[in-house]
Amino acid sequence: MIIFFEPNTNPSNLAQLQLHLKQQGFESNYISSENCCIVPGLKQTTSLQQFTFITRLQQIDTAYQLASKEFKAEIQFEVNGILMGTHFANIIAGPCSVESEEQIFETAAFLSKNGIRFMRGGAYKPRTSPYSFRGLGKEGLRLMGQAAKQYNLSIVTELMDLSLLDEVMQYTDIVQIGSRNMANFYLLAELGKINKPVMLKRGMQAKVNEWLLAADYILSGGNKNVILCERGIRSFDPMSRNVMDIAVIPLVQSLSHLPVIADPSHGTGSASLVPALSMAAMVAGANGLMIEIHPNPAKALSDAHQAMTFEGFEKLLKDINRLQPFIQKPIDVNLSVV
Ligand code: PEP
Ligand code: MN
Repeated sequence: MIIFFEPNTNPSNLAQLQLHLKQQGFESNYISSENCCIVPGLKQTTSLQQFTFITRLQQIDTAYQLASKEFKAEIQFEVNGILMGTHFANIIAGPCSVESEEQIFETAAFLSKNGIRFMRGGAYKPRTSPYSFRGLGKEGLRLMGQAAKQYNLSIVTELMDLSLLDEVMQYTDIVQIGSRNMANFYLLAELGKINKPVMLKRGMQAKVNEWLLAADYILSGGNKNVILCERGIRSFDPMSRNVMDIAVIPLVQSLSHLPVIADPSHGTGSASLVPALSMAAMVAGANGLMIEIHPNPAKALSDAHQAMTFEGFEKLLKDINRLQPFIQKPIDVNLSVV
């Protein structure tokens, strides 16, 4: 049960309500950003009539509450003047990792030439092997920051650990939480307190329910701007890196107001498969794409096999433009000039 109350409800009134609920055996989770309390298991509400500051009661039957479509039908927010949310599509592209000044400036110039507004790039990389390239760290953030500034791009980069929060927040516009950290609940709870959107990737083995509950960890801390990112799930078949779940896009959109961006680069692991999956995701209603590109994919220090060339990416943008009649959302890139 969700109990909503008047925006400026006196804290002592709230404390009385919480005490009343506790006496009946219910824990209440106060969500200040939404002027409500989430009270799991509460069904009998007649005794609440004495609390005149209560404006509304809402029963949401799913385990996740704040991420649900019943809680909120839609969401819209701006990142450096670019609209994102339930009814928008945004294209994010860039290298898996920031590798050098030359690489990131070349990429930024290319993105800007094509009207792309968001640049991705990892500075702190989650790598399976500790002996692989793990990113340039702070220097990578600094280089990406400079390139983004010069070309008027917004940054999406991954936060791996709470100890790096201040550093990453200094440069990024959207905080990416990677697949491996989707279930790092203490990290997610802290992201509820920040004032930048969080892009929450689906855990590689996460059920939809678990993914949406992970979003609730962020939302319940007060951060309303969560973007979900489908990046494929693990399967038994080594033929593709992951199984890119296109069906989950409309499925999650039927359950949640949160935008769902598709990442066909990690979803497939192969640059040759990215165009088909990108187009499929957009027609399936995705709120955009996140795609790995590299000025010289063969030389990429991470995820080389899935990085698209600049030419390939330009062609993909043209193909997406041709699909515009089937895409129901405005895209943040003017594709007709690409
Ligand atoms: C990434 O986007 O670079 C990345 C590491 O993705 P994921 O967390 O989905 O594996
Ligand atoms: Mn990658």
